[in-house]
Amino acid sequence: MTAPQTHRPQGLFELDPQALEAKVVELGGRPFHARILRKEVLSKGILDAQELTSLPAALRAALPEALPLLVGHALDRRESRDGAIKLLTGFDQAGLRQSAIETVYMPPRKKNSTKGATVCVSTQAGCPVGCPFCASGIGGLIRNLKAHEIVEQFVRARALGPISRCVVMGIGEPLLNLEALQRALAIVREGLELGARKVTVSSVGFPERIRRAAASDPRFDLAISLHTPFQEQRDELVPAMSGVPIDEILSAGDDWFAATGREVTYEYVLLGGTNDSEDHARNLVDRLVGRRATVNLIPYNPSPELPFRRPNPTRVENFRALLEEDGLVATVRWSRGLEESAACGQLRAQGVAGETDPDLDSVSAT
Ligand code: SF4
Repeated sequence: MTAPQTHRPQGLFELDPQALEAKVVELGGRPFHARILRKEVLSKGILDAQELTSLPAALRAALPEALPLLVGHALDRRESRDGAIKLLTGFDQAGLRQSAIETVYMPPRKKNSTKGATVCVSTQAGCPVGCPFCASGIGGLIRNLKAHEIVEQFVRARALGPISRCVVMGIGEPLLNLEALQRALAIVREGLELGARKVTVSSVGFPERIRRAAASDPRFDLAISLHTPFQEQRDELVPAMSGVPIDEILSAGDDWFAATGREVTYEYVLLGGTNDSEDHARNLVDRLVGRRATVNLIPYNPSPELPFRRPNPTRVENFRALLEEDGLVATVRWSRGLEESAACGQLRAQGVAGETDPDLDSVSAT
């Protein structure tokens, strides 16, 4: 790994369009080369300036020193047997691993599919929410990511193959960094075809943040992580929202639908023996029936350092059947395998503990 520079030049995605044009001209290019540069890097996932063959050779040669395409450091990469790839990238010069973030590239499950992959991006280094079942919350929030650091995750993922969908479900709570996320998505759309239906932002449901997002012309779908219908248990499972009534969260979800016309998906991580009982299913129905919403059940992917377990498949199926019996639309999303580092935040947690082994054949996907 190359040691980070102390004073580095600004990167391609840190500059606004005017500043980028000026920089490109300073480096001997023409103003229109600036647009080509950004579009090509994003649409093709170019990591090496020498591959930008539509640009003049002199400009290409000047880029690495004067205008780097990427500014982060690739710290680790794990690949699962089903092709999912998890990337660990560090941006800060000090504490590179502590503030590292994860990006997951998930190719379609069906072989020979013509679709591209789904990419899962992070919006914060660390997470302030502190869900006890999630390794990303260990250590709390370090900082919000900047827009260019979110864009960089797309470029690194695109370098692995085509992208058709994006889920903002990596490390962090996206609605606490909404402005940077919106700026990043606007840049990403310059090079990748990601319409509103192709981007899902997952939040733990801060009501005012949801309403603010709904009013900001969001070009994404919203998923709210509920995890339980019981207030006391939610306060424990989503500590940063302790004391916020579930009804208030659901009412913000209704407001989102009224403002955007797009249904909310309620996500529910099924934790074996914790929130997967029949009582939970029945009470979840009571909370959601009659609302324009679907439920996405996610059987938990265990982390060795956390005291929660994966539910048994029969209980998962029973839970889903109970929801559907009472008129909810429910799907189950099994994560991609159970190998090491599969859970969200685990690769970073291992890296922080100094336990990474780049040669491990491991899995991605939250
Ligand atoms: S599950 Fe999401 S919100 Fe909760 S700690 Fe992990 S990253 Fe943060």
